[in-house]
Amino acid sequence: MDTKTYQRKKIVIVLAGMIFLLVVLLARMWYIMVNRSQHYKERADDLHERERVIKAERGIIYDRNGVALATNKSVCTISVIHNQITDPERVIQVLAETLEMEVQKVRKRVEKVSSIEKVRSNVPKETGDLIRSYKLDGVMVDEDYSRYYPFDALAAKTIGFTGGENQGIIGLEVMYDDYLQGDEGRILTVTDVRGVEVENSAETRVEPIMGESLYLSLDYNIQSYVTQVAEKILKQKQAKSVSVILMNPQNGELYAMVNVPEFNLNEPFVLNMSGEAAVNTQDLLNQMWRNGCINDTYEPGSTFKIITATAALEKKVVALNDTFSCPGFRIVADRRIRCHKAGGHGSETFTQGFMNSCNPVFMDVGARVGIEGLYEYFEKLGLFEKTGIDLPGEAASIMHKIENVGEVELATISFGQSFQITPLQLLRAVSAVINGGNLVTPHFGMYTVNKEGDKQTVFEYPVKEGAISQETSETMKELLGLVVSEGTGKNGQVEGYFVGGKTATSQKLPRGSGKYIASFIGFSPVENPQIIGIVLIDEPTGTYYGGTIAAPVMSEIYQMVLPYLFP
Ligand SMILES: [Zn+2]
Repeated sequence: MDTKTYQRKKIVIVLAGMIFLLVVLLARMWYIMVNRSQHYKERADDLHERERVIKAERGIIYDRNGVALATNKSVCTISVIHNQITDPERVIQVLAETLEMEVQKVRKRVEKVSSIEKVRSNVPKETGDLIRSYKLDGVMVDEDYSRYYPFDALAAKTIGFTGGENQGIIGLEVMYDDYLQGDEGRILTVTDVRGVEVENSAETRVEPIMGESLYLSLDYNIQSYVTQVAEKILKQKQAKSVSVILMNPQNGELYAMVNVPEFNLNEPFVLNMSGEAAVNTQDLLNQMWRNGCINDTYEPGSTFKIITATAALEKKVVALNDTFSCPGFRIVADRRIRCHKAGGHGSETFTQGFMNSCNPVFMDVGARVGIEGLYEYFEKLGLFEKTGIDLPGEAASIMHKIENVGEVELATISFGQSFQITPLQLLRAVSAVINGGNLVTPHFGMYTVNKEGDKQTVFEYPVKEGAISQETSETMKELLGLVVSEGTGKNGQVEGYFVGGKTATSQKLPRGSGKYIASFIGFSPVENPQIIGIVLIDEPTGTYYGGTIAAPVMSEIYQMVLPYLFP
C-alpha cells in the first residue's frame, strides 16, 4: 500500500468518526431541546419570579350576641427590593424617619443583596400610606392585618392573643387557630436576571382566604358586669385574685369566665403586676396569663360536701332525718379533727348538718360511704378526668391513690380536704348533681361562619347521662336551696329568685400559713337550674369566710344576671 492510499483511508476513518460524533451531538441537542425544554424553562422562571405573601385576615371572635371581642386592624408590611432601588440614601433616610428606626438597621436591609427584604411589619396604615406617597423605587408597602381587641382586658385569660405570625399564643385563639387562620395569598411578579420587574408582565395574584369567624357562648354584658363586681371585691379585700365562672348547667355553655386581675390583650407582653424578685420575665408573663379557673387546682373545702352528700344519698347510707352529734370535733385514728364551730353544733339531723356545713357530720357520712363508694361517685361526676373545656392547659385533679387512703384521709376527703381539683371540675360535677345526673362538657365555642356569614362548623360536646339518679338530684337541690334560704349561704340570696348553693373557706397549703380561698357555688332557679356559678376569692385580707365574703359577690352578680337572662 502506497502512502497516498494510506492517507486517503485515514481521512475517511477520521471523517466517519467526526460524522458519527456530530450525529450523537445533534441527537443529544434534539433530545435536550424537545424533551428537557420544559425542565429548563421552569428553572429559568424560578430564577425570574418573585413571590410576596398576602396574609389572610384572621376570623373574628364574637360573643353569643354578635359583639366582636377579637377583631383585626389594617396594618402594613414594608419591604425593599435591592435591585430596584435607584436612590438608596433617600430610601434609607425616609424609612428611618417614618418607621422611627435606627439608620444603621435600615441601611443593612437596603444594602443586602436579596430578592426581597422585610424592613418592618405591623406598621400603622397611615405610616404605610405616607411611605407610599414618597413613590420610592424599590420600596414595597403591602397591606396586612394585626389582631385588635376592642375591650382590652375583657376576658383576656379566656380569649387569649396572637403572635407576630397571627398564630394563637394562649386561650381560645390557640384552641380555634385552625378555623381562625385562613389561607395566605401570594403575589408573583416576573423579573429579569437583575431582579428588575419585567415591564408589562402581569402580576399573578392568588387571593388570600379569610379565616372562619367564631361565635362563643360567652355573653359580653355578663362578662363585663361580672368583671366589674370581681374587681371591686379584689380591691376591697386586697386579694391576690378573684375568679368567677358562670355556666348553663343543662348544656355546659359558659356565659362568663373572669380572672381578675386580667391583662391588656393589646399589650400582652407588658407586665401588670409587681413581680417578686429573682423570677425571670417569661415566668412573670406566664403567671399573668394563667387562667385560675382551669389552669390551677385547689382544695375545695366545704363546697365539696355537695359531692359527699350526693354519694351518701345514692348509696342510701344516710336519710335526711338521721341524727348526728357534733361536740366541735371528731377523733379519727389518733387525730382530733375540728368543726368550724368550736363549741360544736350539738345534736342535728343530716339536713341540719348540711345546712350548718358541720365537719363531724360529714366525717361520719364519709365513713359510712367508704372510700370505694366515694371514688365511684368522683368518677361518675368527672373528678378523675379533665372537663374537656375548649381551652388549652387544663389542669388535672390530684387525688390519693385509693390504697393510700386511711381513716384520716377518708375523713378529710369527706369535707373537701387533702386532694385538689380545678374550680371548673367542681362546677361541672355540681351541675350534674343538680341537672338530674348529666355530666356536661363546659365550653365556649358554638359555631363558625365564613366571610359571607354562612355557618360552617357547629360544635357538639359530649354529655354523659346517668351520673346520679333523678331522685338524689331532687333531694340535693332542696338541700342546697335550704343552705341559701336558712343556712350558711344566706348571703347568697337574691330577691325574687330562688337560689341554691354552698359556701366554702379553704385553707391554702401549707396548712397554717394563714392563707385562704373563700368561695361560693350557687345556682338558680332551684327547681329547674338554668345558671350555675362559682366565685373564688384568693387570699383575702381581713374576714375570709366564704359565707361572709364570697356569697354576697354571687348575690350581687345574680341580681343583675338573673333578670337579664330570664326577664
Ligand atoms: Zn359541727
